[in-house]
Amino acid sequence: MKISEIISSKKVTISFEIFPPKKQDDFSTVKQSAMTLSATKPDFISITHGAGGSTNKNSATLAQTVQDSGTTALAHLTCIRSSKEQLLKTIEDFKTRGITNVLALRGDIPNDSFEGENLFPSGLFHASDLVSILKEQGFCVGGACYPEGHPESANRDLDIENLKHKVSAGVDFLTTQMIFDNDMLYSFLYRLQSANIRVPVLAGIMPITNANQVKRMVDLSNAYIPRKLLSFCDRFKNDKEAMKQAGIAYATDQIIDLISNGVRGIHIYTMNKPEIAQAILKNIDSIIKAVNA
Ligand code: FAD
Repeated sequence: MKISEIISSKKVTISFEIFPPKKQDDFSTVKQSAMTLSATKPDFISITHGAGGSTNKNSATLAQTVQDSGTTALAHLTCIRSSKEQLLKTIEDFKTRGITNVLALRGDIPNDSFEGENLFPSGLFHASDLVSILKEQGFCVGGACYPEGHPESANRDLDIENLKHKVSAGVDFLTTQMIFDNDMLYSFLYRLQSANIRVPVLAGIMPITNANQVKRMVDLSNAYIPRKLLSFCDRFKNDKEAMKQAGIAYATDQIIDLISNGVRGIHIYTMNKPEIAQAILKNIDSIIKAVNA
C-alpha cells in the first residue's frame, strides 16, 4: 500500500526505522528484529540505505522481507556516490520486489571523501533531483527534513527555502531528523505553514536507552538535548536496565505530547531494538486506539 494512502486514512500513524546489517552474517538477526517489529502491526517500517550503496542488496532484501510479512515497507535510497545507472538499477529492483514507497535522500558527505572527488556521478546533487525521478516512475516518495536546520545550511530559513524544492518535486510526506525537544518541531511546523508547505510531517523519535548514544546522536543530528534527558543519562549511565526504563519513559512522554498537540505521524528510530519499540507501543496503545477510533 502507498504510505500517502495510509496517512490520509488515519488520524495518527506509527512507523519504525531499521537498518540493514553491514556484515552478511548478521542478516538473520536483523531479519528477526524486523519480524518482531512487523508483528506489532506498525503502519510501515522504513529500511535505511548505506550512502554509496554500501548496504544496497541487504536494504532491498530486508524491505522485501518486511513487505512479505504483511507490513508496508519504505525503502530509503541515497544518491551520493552512485551513478545514474546504479540508481536506475536499484529502482528497477524495488519495482521487481513490489516496493512502492521510497524515502529519497542525498546521503551524508562520507568521512573518507577526498578533495576533488566527484560525489555525485549521477548528476543528482540534491534529494529533490531523486524525488523527481521516483515520482515519474510512480512511487510514493518521502523526503527528510530538519526541524533544527540541516548542518550544512547557513540558517534555518535557507533550509526551508531548499525544502521547497523537495516539495515542488512532489514528495508525498516528510520525516524529520530525530528531535528530543518537541518545541523544536512545533516551531518548525509553524515555519512550514508560513512557507506554505502543506505535506504531512512525521516526527522522528529516537529513544535514548544508552548514555553513550547521546554524544553520537548530537554529532549526527545537531539536535538540542534537553536538560531532563541529560540528567537521567548522567544518573543512570551505569545501570543498563534503569537507562532503558528512563529512555522508554522519555520517548513515551514525547510521543504523548506530540499526539496531544495534533502531530499526525510518529516515526520511531528503533536502532534494531524491537523490545524498546514494543515497550513504547504498550505505553501508548490506548492513546492510539482512542485517536484512530
Ligand atoms: P538534501 O535535501 O539534498 O539536502 C542536503 C543539503 O542541501 C541541505 O543543507 C539542504 O538545505 C541543501 N539543499 C537541498 N536542496 C538544495 C538546492 N536545490 N539548492 C541548494 N541547496 C540545497 N542517510 C543515509 O546515508 N542513509 C539513509 O538511509 C538515511 N536516512 C535518513 C532518514 C531521515 C528521516 C533523515 C532525516 C536523514 C536520513 N539520512 C540517511 C541522512 C541524510 O542523508 C543526510 O542528512 C544528508 O546530509 C542530507 O540528505 P537529504 O536527503 O536531506 O538532502
